[in-house]
Amino acid sequence: MTSIAVVGSGVSGLHLGLFLQQHDVPVTLYSDKTAEQIASGRLLNTVAHHHHTLERERELGVHHWDASEYGYVCHQHAVVGTPEPMRWRGDFQHPSSIIDYRLYLPRLLQDYEERGGDVVIGPIDTEMIERISSDHDLVVVAAGRGMGAMFAPLPDKCPYDKPQRRLSAGIYHGVRYSEPKGVGVHMSLGHGEMLELPITSREGFATALLFENIPGGDLEVLADVSYDEDPRAHDELVLRKLEQHYPMCFERVDAASFRLQGPDDLLQGALTPVVRQDYVRLESGTFALAMGDAHCVVDPVNGQGANSASYSAWVIGRAILDDLAVDEQFCRRVARDRQAFVHGVSDWTNMILNPEPHVVGLLMAMAENKAVCDAYTQNFNHPDRQWDTVATPERTAAFIARYGAGQPAVAA
Ligand SMILES: Cc1cc2nc3c(=O)[nH]c(=O)nc-3n(C[C@H](O)[C@H](O)[C@H](O)COP(=O)(O)OP(=O)(O)OC[C@H]3O[C@@H](n4cnc5c(N)ncnc54)[C@H](O)[C@@H]3O)c2cc1C
Repeated sequence: MTSIAVVGSGVSGLHLGLFLQQHDVPVTLYSDKTAEQIASGRLLNTVAHHHHTLERERELGVHHWDASEYGYVCHQHAVVGTPEPMRWRGDFQHPSSIIDYRLYLPRLLQDYEERGGDVVIGPIDTEMIERISSDHDLVVVAAGRGMGAMFAPLPDKCPYDKPQRRLSAGIYHGVRYSEPKGVGVHMSLGHGEMLELPITSREGFATALLFENIPGGDLEVLADVSYDEDPRAHDELVLRKLEQHYPMCFERVDAASFRLQGPDDLLQGALTPVVRQDYVRLESGTFALAMGDAHCVVDPVNGQGANSASYSAWVIGRAILDDLAVDEQFCRRVARDRQAFVHGVSDWTNMILNPEPHVVGLLMAMAENKAVCDAYTQNFNHPDRQWDTVATPERTAAFIARYGAGQPAVAA
């Protein structure tokens, strides 16, 4: 029977591993870290899972944090830098959810192991990929951005050669949730965006603040300031920047109890978006298929990378079940089946980082018409449709006309 190697035990590797296990397909997960190492490590990201990803978790029997209790139901938009500050809301049809990956990934790895799954711990490099390919019929490379270089970038899908935002993501206490509970999507024109994320953390409910700072702007300092050197000065700086740039979050902050959760709960950096080719043929003749961040990296401003990685895992899993072989034709089929979704995530996110005037117009329409905003919000589950919406001024105008005229938001 077909044997699959999955390199990497992030969200995509685990979702594929659990899927194959559920369907009795032999699979081995190769990971450089144990569950304990992930659990005790530094903040990895601040990932929102949307409904379609939560549905896959339910199907795998690993939806351990009931979205009706842990999730959130809307996007609360706030903009400053316009003549008047603006705020508006878009609702989801079903909740999304944010669980610290240092809780999420170890729990799913534990599920996989308790169900009898094979895991090999130790770093894998490209030479070892060649070696393990002789023990398997297909190697799925899901080891994140570090392993992407195996797959050549697709130049026409890579508009940027450097990061468009400098990031600071941290878990904080002292921020009261919005009502209804939602993700705050804050914009400070010319300086960046800030996502205010109701997260379930090691200390229970908390708020992740993801500052997406435009290089050269007033907020860029947040990507550089050291927490370890002076924790209080760091927290004070964040507080002042919130007050100045994101007042509609600051109004719910209790300054006396505001604090970063701890030294490991901060992640600063930047990433360059890239879409890579889908697969390569290894010297052994076996194919290696890229999945998740090894295939496509997007800036986190739209919260799509992990959802897309999980979607990709599902496409690959289903293709393994359905197809007759895991040869080049199989790889082409996977590429075709996931293209609209994964490239949609990338094209839409790259557009949002430097929005064209019609996309700014869409934001204005969303502020004025809740049905338009609900439809846009719901499309966080359908990045292919979202790209169809923002790709050209004509399409955006048609979207506004359709939903502005009172059509219900698109289905789940
Ligand atoms: C601040 C921030 C916020 C984000 N917010 C969101 C969000 O809201 N929604 C969303 O959908 N996405 C979000 N993302 C993106 C998301 O984190 C990634 O897209 C997603 O985690 C990618 O999953 P993956 O399975 O491809 O790889 P990864 O999560 O990168 O996992 C790779 C795994 O491979 C292992 N590994 C690495 N190298 C090796 C090696 N050499 N050998 C063996 N194993 C190895 C690692 O230990 C890890 O377990 C965010 C990212 C950041 C940085």
